[in-house]
Amino acid sequence: MGWREAMSSWPVVRQLRGADRLGRGAAAQSRRYLELTPRTQAADKVVKSICPFCAVGCGQQVYVADGVITQIEGDPDSPVSRGRLCPKGSASKQLVTGPGREYRIKYRRPHGTDWEELDLDTAMDMIADRIIASREKSWEWELDGKRTRRAMGLASLGGATLDNEENYLMKKLYTALGAIQIENQARI
Ligand code: SF4
Repeated sequence: MGWREAMSSWPVVRQLRGADRLGRGAAAQSRRYLELTPRTQAADKVVKSICPFCAVGCGQQVYVADGVITQIEGDPDSPVSRGRLCPKGSASKQLVTGPGREYRIKYRRPHGTDWEELDLDTAMDMIADRIIASREKSWEWELDGKRTRRAMGLASLGGATLDNEENYLMKKLYTALGAIQIENQARI
Protein backbone atom coordinates (compact mmCIF):
# COMPACT_ATOMS: atom_id res chain seq x y z
CA MET A 1 0.00 0.00 0.00
CA GLY A 2 1.47 3.39 -1.06
CA TRP A 3 1.66 6.31 1.38
CA ARG A 4 -1.16 8.18 -0.33
CA GLU A 5 -3.44 5.17 -0.03
CA ALA A 6 -2.29 4.55 3.54
CA MET A 7 -3.00 8.15 4.55
CA SER A 8 -6.39 8.20 2.90
CA SER A 9 -7.41 5.22 5.04
CA TRP A 10 -6.79 7.18 8.25
CA PRO A 11 -10.07 7.83 10.03
CA VAL A 12 -9.40 11.57 10.36
CA VAL A 13 -8.71 11.87 6.60
CA ARG A 14 -11.83 9.91 5.79
CA GLN A 15 -13.76 12.15 8.16
CA LEU A 16 -12.50 15.35 6.53
CA ARG A 17 -12.88 14.12 2.97
CA GLY A 18 -16.06 12.06 3.18
CA ALA A 19 -19.66 12.74 4.02
CA ASP A 20 -19.31 11.66 7.65
CA ARG A 21 -17.90 14.97 8.94
CA LEU A 22 -18.78 14.27 12.59
CA GLY A 23 -16.92 10.95 12.55
CA ARG A 24 -19.81 9.04 14.02
CA GLY A 25 -20.40 6.58 11.20
CA ALA A 26 -18.44 5.34 8.18
CA ALA A 27 -15.37 7.49 8.95
CA ALA A 28 -14.90 5.76 12.30
CA GLN A 29 -15.35 2.23 10.95
CA SER A 30 -12.22 0.14 10.48
CA ARG A 31 -11.72 -2.48 7.77
CA ARG A 32 -11.80 -5.11 10.51
CA TYR A 33 -15.15 -3.80 11.72
CA LEU A 34 -16.62 -4.00 8.22
CA GLU A 35 -15.62 -7.67 8.01
CA LEU A 36 -17.37 -8.59 11.26
CA THR A 37 -20.78 -10.29 11.31
CA PRO A 38 -22.97 -10.77 14.36
CA ARG A 39 -22.89 -14.22 15.97
CA THR A 40 -26.67 -14.27 15.77
CA GLN A 41 -26.49 -14.26 11.96
CA ALA A 42 -25.03 -17.77 11.76
CA ALA A 43 -27.71 -19.32 14.01
CA ASP A 44 -29.92 -21.99 12.49
CA LYS A 45 -32.47 -21.70 15.29
CA VAL A 46 -33.44 -19.39 18.14
CA VAL A 47 -34.86 -20.88 21.34
CA LYS A 48 -36.83 -18.85 23.88
CA SER A 49 -35.67 -19.30 27.43
CA ILE A 50 -35.54 -17.66 30.87
CA CYS A 51 -32.37 -16.40 32.54
CA PRO A 52 -31.63 -18.82 35.40
CA PHE A 53 -29.57 -16.45 37.54
CA CYS A 54 -32.16 -14.71 39.69
CA ALA A 55 -35.83 -14.45 40.54
CA VAL A 56 -36.50 -11.62 38.06
CA GLY A 57 -36.74 -14.24 35.31
CA CYS A 58 -35.76 -12.10 32.32
CA GLY A 59 -36.61 -13.54 28.90
CA GLN A 60 -33.77 -14.78 26.73
CA GLN A 61 -33.27 -15.73 23.12
CA VAL A 62 -30.74 -18.54 22.76
CA TYR A 63 -29.05 -18.66 19.35
CA VAL A 64 -27.93 -22.11 18.23
CA ALA A 65 -25.75 -23.12 15.28
CA ASP A 66 -25.06 -26.81 14.54
CA GLY A 67 -26.33 -27.77 17.99
CA VAL A 68 -24.01 -25.34 19.79
CA ILE A 69 -25.11 -22.21 21.66
CA THR A 70 -23.45 -19.26 19.94
CA GLN A 71 -25.13 -16.32 21.65
CA ILE A 72 -27.73 -15.44 24.29
CA GLU A 73 -29.57 -12.13 24.14
CA GLY A 74 -32.57 -10.48 25.75
CA ASP A 75 -36.02 -11.39 24.45
CA PRO A 76 -37.98 -8.32 23.30
CA ASP A 77 -41.23 -10.33 23.66
CA SER A 78 -40.74 -10.82 27.41
CA PRO A 79 -43.18 -8.67 29.44
CA VAL A 80 -40.74 -8.95 32.36
CA SER A 81 -37.59 -7.58 30.78
CA ARG A 82 -38.60 -6.35 27.29
CA GLY A 83 -35.33 -7.35 25.64
CA ARG A 84 -33.01 -6.36 28.45
CA LEU A 85 -30.51 -8.46 30.41
CA CYS A 86 -28.25 -7.40 33.25
CA PRO A 87 -24.49 -8.24 33.00
CA LYS A 88 -25.07 -11.64 34.62
CA GLY A 89 -27.82 -12.57 32.20
CA SER A 90 -25.80 -11.22 29.25
CA ALA A 91 -22.90 -13.49 30.23
CA SER A 92 -25.02 -16.61 30.77
CA LYS A 93 -23.68 -18.20 27.57
CA GLN A 94 -20.62 -18.95 29.66
CA LEU A 95 -22.75 -21.21 31.87
CA VAL A 96 -22.79 -23.75 29.06
CA THR A 97 -19.73 -22.90 27.00
CA GLY A 98 -17.21 -21.44 29.49
CA PRO A 99 -13.97 -23.38 29.94
CA GLY A 100 -14.38 -23.10 33.72
CA ARG A 101 -17.57 -25.15 33.69
CA GLU A 102 -17.14 -28.28 35.82
CA TYR A 103 -18.51 -31.55 34.47
CA ARG A 104 -17.17 -33.89 37.15
CA ILE A 105 -18.26 -34.33 40.74
CA LYS A 106 -15.73 -32.85 43.13
CA TYR A 107 -15.52 -33.94 46.76
CA ARG A 108 -13.34 -32.65 49.54
CA ARG A 109 -13.23 -34.88 52.59
CA PRO A 110 -13.48 -33.46 56.10
CA HIS A 111 -10.04 -32.01 56.88
CA GLY A 112 -8.98 -32.74 53.30
CA THR A 113 -6.90 -30.21 51.41
CA ASP A 114 -7.52 -31.43 47.85
CA TRP A 115 -10.56 -32.14 45.74
CA GLU A 116 -11.27 -35.72 44.71
CA GLU A 117 -13.36 -36.77 41.75
CA LEU A 118 -16.29 -39.10 42.40
CA ASP A 119 -18.59 -40.99 40.07
CA LEU A 120 -22.25 -40.06 40.25
CA ASP A 121 -23.49 -43.30 41.88
CA THR A 122 -20.92 -43.02 44.67
CA ALA A 123 -21.78 -39.37 45.31
CA MET A 124 -25.54 -40.05 45.35
CA ASP A 125 -25.08 -42.93 47.81
CA MET A 126 -22.97 -40.72 50.07
CA ILE A 127 -25.59 -37.97 50.03
CA ALA A 128 -28.42 -40.44 50.77
CA ASP A 129 -26.44 -41.99 53.64
CA ARG A 130 -25.78 -38.59 55.17
CA ILE A 131 -29.41 -37.49 54.90
CA ILE A 132 -30.66 -40.70 56.55
CA ALA A 133 -28.05 -40.46 59.32
CA SER A 134 -28.75 -36.76 59.99
CA ARG A 135 -32.47 -37.38 60.07
CA GLU A 136 -32.15 -40.26 62.52
CA LYS A 137 -29.75 -38.36 64.73
CA SER A 138 -31.71 -35.11 64.87
CA TRP A 139 -35.31 -36.37 64.76
CA GLU A 140 -37.50 -34.73 67.38
CA TRP A 141 -40.95 -36.13 68.23
CA GLU A 142 -41.93 -33.41 70.66
CA LEU A 143 -40.65 -30.41 72.55
CA ASP A 144 -41.95 -29.29 75.96
CA GLY A 145 -44.85 -31.69 75.60
CA LYS A 146 -45.88 -30.34 72.21
CA ARG A 147 -45.72 -32.52 69.13
CA THR A 148 -43.06 -31.32 66.67
CA ARG A 149 -42.08 -34.31 64.51
CA ARG A 150 -39.19 -32.57 62.81
CA ALA A 151 -35.55 -33.13 61.90
CA MET A 152 -33.54 -30.17 63.14
CA GLY A 153 -30.36 -31.50 61.57
CA LEU A 154 -31.63 -31.06 58.02
CA ALA A 155 -31.83 -27.81 56.07
CA SER A 156 -31.88 -26.72 52.46
CA LEU A 157 -30.55 -23.56 50.84
CA GLY A 158 -31.38 -23.64 47.13
CA GLY A 159 -29.54 -21.71 44.47
CA ALA A 160 -30.92 -19.02 42.20
CA THR A 161 -30.72 -21.30 39.20
CA LEU A 162 -33.49 -23.53 40.52
CA ASP A 163 -36.79 -23.03 38.74
CA ASN A 164 -40.32 -23.09 40.17
CA GLU A 165 -40.84 -26.77 39.47
CA GLU A 166 -37.55 -27.80 41.08
CA ASN A 167 -38.27 -25.68 44.14
CA TYR A 168 -41.72 -27.21 44.42
CA LEU A 169 -40.29 -30.73 44.41
CA MET A 170 -37.53 -29.81 46.86
CA LYS A 171 -40.02 -28.30 49.27
CA LYS A 172 -42.11 -31.49 49.11
CA LEU A 173 -39.08 -33.71 49.66
CA TYR A 174 -37.54 -31.77 52.55
CA THR A 175 -40.85 -31.26 54.31
CA ALA A 176 -41.52 -34.99 54.03
CA LEU A 177 -38.12 -35.62 55.59
CA GLY A 178 -39.00 -33.33 58.49
CA ALA A 179 -36.83 -30.33 57.64
CA ILE A 180 -38.23 -26.94 58.56
CA GLN A 181 -35.37 -24.71 57.37
CA ILE A 182 -36.00 -24.61 53.63
CA GLU A 183 -34.85 -21.52 51.77
CA ASN A 184 -33.96 -20.37 48.28
CA GLN A 185 -31.51 -17.76 47.11
CA ALA A 186 -34.25 -16.05 45.15
CA ARG A 187 -35.98 -15.12 48.42
CA ILE A 188 -32.88 -13.72 50.12
S1 SF4 B 1 -30.77 -10.96 33.43
FE1 SF4 B 1 -30.08 -10.32 35.47
S2 SF4 B 1 -31.94 -9.44 36.42
FE2 SF4 B 1 -32.60 -10.72 34.67
S3 SF4 B 1 -33.03 -12.75 35.55
FE3 SF4 B 1 -30.91 -12.75 34.79
S4 SF4 B 1 -29.69 -12.22 36.59
FE4 SF4 B 1 -31.78 -11.61 37.04
